[in-house]
Amino acid sequence: MADIQVRLPDGSVRQVPAGTTPAELLDTTTAGDPFVVTVDGQPRDLHRPLLADATLAPVPAASDLGREVLRHSTAHVMAQAVTDLFPEAKYAIGPPVEDGFYYDFDVPEPFTPDDLGRIESRMRKIIKSGQRFQRAELSHEEGLARFADQPFKLEIIGAVDEFKGAGAATGAPDADGTVSVYDNVGRDGEVVWSDLCRGPHVPNTRRLGAFKLLRVAGAYWRGDEHRPQLQRIYGTAWESQEALDAYLHQLEEAERRDHRKLGQELDLFHFPPEIGGGLPVFHPKGGLVRKLMEDYSRAEHEKAGYDFVWTPHLAKSTLYEISGHLDWYADGMYPPMEMEGATYYPKPMNCPGHILIYSSRGRSYRELPLRLFEFGTVYRFERSGVLHGLTRVRGITQDDSHIFCTPEQLAGELADLLQFVLRLLRTFGLTELELELSTRPEKYVGEPAEWDEATAALRSALEASGLPYTVAEGEGAFYAPKIDVHVKDAIGRRWQMSTLQVDLQEPQRFGIEYTGPDNAKHRPYMIHRALFGSVERFFGILLEHYAGAFPTWLAPVQVELVPVADRHLEYASKVAESMRAAGLRVEIDDSGGRMQAKVRDAQLQKIPYILVLGDKDQDADAVSVRTLDGSERRGLPLDDFLAHITAEVEAKREATLPAEPGA
Ligand SMILES: [Zn+2]
Ligand SMILES: [Zn+2]
Repeated sequence: MADIQVRLPDGSVRQVPAGTTPAELLDTTTAGDPFVVTVDGQPRDLHRPLLADATLAPVPAASDLGREVLRHSTAHVMAQAVTDLFPEAKYAIGPPVEDGFYYDFDVPEPFTPDDLGRIESRMRKIIKSGQRFQRAELSHEEGLARFADQPFKLEIIGAVDEFKGAGAATGAPDADGTVSVYDNVGRDGEVVWSDLCRGPHVPNTRRLGAFKLLRVAGAYWRGDEHRPQLQRIYGTAWESQEALDAYLHQLEEAERRDHRKLGQELDLFHFPPEIGGGLPVFHPKGGLVRKLMEDYSRAEHEKAGYDFVWTPHLAKSTLYEISGHLDWYADGMYPPMEMEGATYYPKPMNCPGHILIYSSRGRSYRELPLRLFEFGTVYRFERSGVLHGLTRVRGITQDDSHIFCTPEQLAGELADLLQFVLRLLRTFGLTELELELSTRPEKYVGEPAEWDEATAALRSALEASGLPYTVAEGEGAFYAPKIDVHVKDAIGRRWQMSTLQVDLQEPQRFGIEYTGPDNAKHRPYMIHRALFGSVERFFGILLEHYAGAFPTWLAPVQVELVPVADRHLEYASKVAESMRAAGLRVEIDDSGGRMQAKVRDAQLQKIPYILVLGDKDQDADAVSVRTLDGSERRGLPLDDFLAHITAEVEAKREATLPAEPGA
């Protein structure tokens, strides 16, 4: 065969015979022992021969692509284990997914947790046995013959066009009908198991092993409820045992922090079936936290020069015809209501209402920027299947504002706004922030010059923030470039939070104007900005971030008083009185139970400070303080504790034990 030129990761070019494999060319010591490579940017097996000039790059296991390959390879091993243990099982498809993989099977009986354990042990045996993953190309007919007893594979082979582009893991045939297959080959060279697949795969099962099967769920073949229901086994797999352990720990933490569970345990909110999915009610304690969040937000908006407005929950179709929502957002809106010959809709967004306030009279440049703010509840249709506690609801209260300004004011306004948003998020304890700029998509409305101006203004706001940011080219809404603020919570999960958009459509559609210093009419820029995004979702995220233990300023009950015996009740009332006088939220446990049990109850309610009051405390006008982490300080003068906690609430810090004197 002729020679080919291969560019290696170090930049050197080697001339080798066609048919040489990447494995033969890569110095595995410097390449960090890769198990897959990219060839001209496309993922490929280490042992697949190179037939033309190419550029090679090793793919490390600890990368997105590396993990995808090891997860999908683990899925093959799982399917092999399932067919070993359940010879009647028919296997469908098994792609990698975020953080793991799954494989779908048609089996007579659903899998039990016990089955998962057996499948896992079988997988460990297969992995240990060191099977090679070997690629083969079959003709259409050979493919049909090879998978004669696997109806799902036959369907995939038969439906070339339908499956085209459905993803590598389906093994959809090439346009010419060629079918690629991965054989698992034992040490004696015998093919043990095969799957229809485009690959790539790890070279050998020994490269796998840090995995765990997680759960079973029902899933319809090709997502079609008229097709057979299959059993889907989910698993996770990582490049090392440490990475797997860290992920499993995160899963456990996420479960422990699940806001739906905490909402019930801490008596904060619930979703009554009589009201309907995605529509929560907040109980007194949850309502209080919500009020504290809102009070703080209102106070900050007031300081920052916002005007408070209010708009109704229903509006005529006329409004959403002008705004265009009925054209491009109808799927997210609730069905209309007919009243007295007019059609009304629950509002999906607050913006059109705010624009009507702007345009209620003529505006001069002297009034700009005009910053309108509202806690406005909007209603959006979400399928019942995607609802998820408070983080995906149907009634969304936005801390919504719309800012109308001149082109000259735009950059400065956005820079201030971004600082404002970041400061508020940090106050809520969300300090790991990531910023992203989304620019003009292919399909857009408005003038390119306006897009450029708005995008440049957003970019300069990002630069001024001093934080690193990424750019998502072409990812803006069709009517607006935007900045998204993402936060990382206490266990490293990323949440999209606040958004700043420069709207290039609505001012045009509503024809809003202002009179400039030149006495001529001009069109203002309009900025949409939601900070919490949705109060409900923000509440859910905070609850998980703090695992229910809100910082003192947000805690529904800040101090629990635990009298050691009934003879300390009177002293407890006196202490409670002085705390209430200082504006603190305090509760006395006068249940008469044992002291330890009362302390335990207060800890379960995640009350930041538990004060145990006994004889010595009573005699000295003192308190014995415990915080949630179990640390304790005895005999602290009551006045000192009051000074400590009020300063902490004022500064919105998290709860800490008062320092020992002289410490
Ligand atoms: Zn595969
Ligand atoms: Zn808006």
